[in-house]
Amino acid sequence: MFKTTVDYDKCIGDEECVNACPAEVYDFDEEAKHPIVARQEDCLGCETCVEVCTVGAITVEEV
Ligand code: SF4
Repeated sequence: MFKTTVDYDKCIGDEECVNACPAEVYDFDEEAKHPIVARQEDCLGCETCVEVCTVGAITVEEV
């Protein structure tokens, strides 16, 4: 099981993580203009989202 955290103070809402995640863990909140972790239970722990995030806003940890 993995815990995915988005630091909204850093996030610029470019949706890179939403588009890159192979497990569709993220949805994009159009009002707030940032991703939300909608399906945490589907996370594979691959850290693709961490790699594509241009501002280092995402952390993934095993829990
Ligand atoms: S670690 Fe991989 S599966 Fe999990 S949210 Fe990030 S891109 Fe998606």
